Amino acid sequence: MDDFDYDLFTLGAGSGGVRASRVAAGLGARCAIAEDHRVGGTCVIRGCVPKKLLTYAAHFAQDFEDAAGYGWTVAPPSFSWPALIAAKDREIARLEAVYRSLLAGSRVALLDGRAVVLDAHTVEVGGRRITARHLLVATGGWPVRPGFPGAEHCITSNEAFALTELPRRVLMVGGGYVAVEFAGIFRGLGAMVTLAYRGEQLLRGFDDDVRAHLSIELVRGGIDMRLHATPQSVERLPDGSLRVALRTAAGVSLLEVDAVMLATGRAPNTQGLGLAEAGVALDDDGGVVVDAFGASSVPSIHAVGDVTNRIALTPVAIREGAALAATLFGGRPTSADHVDVPHAVFSDPPVGAVGMTEAQARNTLDAVSVHTASFRPLKSMLSGREQKTLMKLVVDADTQRVVGAHMVGPDAPEIIQAIAIAVKAGLTKAQFDATMAVHPTAAEEFVTMR
Ligand SMILES: Cc1cc2nc3c(=O)[nH]c(=O)nc-3n(C[C@H](O)[C@H](O)[C@H](O)COP(=O)(O)OP(=O)(O)OC[C@H]3O[C@@H](n4cnc5c(N)ncnc54)[C@H](O)[C@@H]3O)c2cc1C
Repeated sequence: MDDFDYDLFTLGAGSGGVRASRVAAGLGARCAIAEDHRVGGTCVIRGCVPKKLLTYAAHFAQDFEDAAGYGWTVAPPSFSWPALIAAKDREIARLEAVYRSLLAGSRVALLDGRAVVLDAHTVEVGGRRITARHLLVATGGWPVRPGFPGAEHCITSNEAFALTELPRRVLMVGGGYVAVEFAGIFRGLGAMVTLAYRGEQLLRGFDDDVRAHLSIELVRGGIDMRLHATPQSVERLPDGSLRVALRTAAGVSLLEVDAVMLATGRAPNTQGLGLAEAGVALDDDGGVVVDAFGASSVPSIHAVGDVTNRIALTPVAIREGAALAATLFGGRPTSADHVDVPHAVFSDPPVGAVGMTEAQARNTLDAVSVHTASFRPLKSMLSGREQKTLMKLVVDADTQRVVGAHMVGPDAPEIIQAIAIAVKAGLTKAQFDATMAVHPTAAEEFVTMR
């Protein structure tokens, strides 16, 4: 036993920090964690969970429409944004309380306040100095705001969750999953949505067929998509609305909206943390550079989750947190596995993907075969909805291993979670084909594709 106050002090009670602390405490370490906003972090408070709740809310619009094809007469529905936000807030408060009690139950001391690193073993929280054998930086990420004039009038996902009323006209700026998801939320709830993205196609990093398919469906769903488009300035008008100068290949056009949401990426949350001063190496985006076991360039300082600027997803942060605790206190050097991480976009329609895109496979493998299916889901036959589903398998033609699976369509995230087991296990196309279908489902296409 040394004379540090704690064995592990964690900065940030989000997905990664909470898991690392609880597992470490379970292994006998004396743990404390500091949180300067709300326990649960981005995922619980202003990320995955509230976003998914708003996605459910938005989807009811289609359900009401589709019901007519099945014989239902639905009175014109009405929607209350304040009621939705209040219900969402109650659920988030409940979850935060669960996280707090989990920490207490694991005997992790919780300090409400911002922590700053003073040296390799010391932090300061609210004027109090605390020492620990190991420090863990799990401070997550923060939305990046472009610097055009009037950017201060715009919101990010942080503020979108707390709007007091639903904007009637929204400009969404960005082409990543947060932009696409919030475009779907606002559109589903009745707003007119313009999505402006500076690149040539949405969802960089996803399979090209998925990107193209989703773009078509978003436009079909009523989103006004502007590619190669960047806001030049935003001006607040006397009536409170916003005038945006949007630059596209055709020149600058003016757009009047009630809200501009910037979903232009996130940066690691390391500003003012004292890391560089303590000798911790940071990458160009400010991310903490770590080895496979979560150690930074200062051996007693570690980092997990979004702050490491690797794969910014909750399950990844959680695995990294658990692996770090096992490494430091379980006597087992453990690294989180970053290969074949399944991921989803809760857009309308949603996307699920695992493994290589076709382009990645063609760049890295000698021979590739690709199997795709595109169809209107059975449900649409009576509802008349035109939306199409896309499913795609990418196969290493030499080994016959399925190296990638991609889907755009209802339930894609749920389906891909199960398919991810097969991809991770390295199963072959023949083994997919030998699996009996569940009929009638969309998922059966994954075992019947020729
Ligand atoms: C809109 C949105 C939607 C998302 N949807 C999904 C999804 O569907 N699926 C998915 O897997 N991922 C999703 N993510 C990503 C996911 O939320 C993050 O990957 C995950 O929360 C990362 O966990 P973390 O522990 O690294 O950081 P965080 O969860 O961000 O936690 C960091 C915590 O540290 C605190 N903190 C920061 N600085 C300090 C300090 N100096 N002292 C004390 N505390 C500090 C912060 O307040 C925060 O609570 C989404 C993110 C956003 C923004």
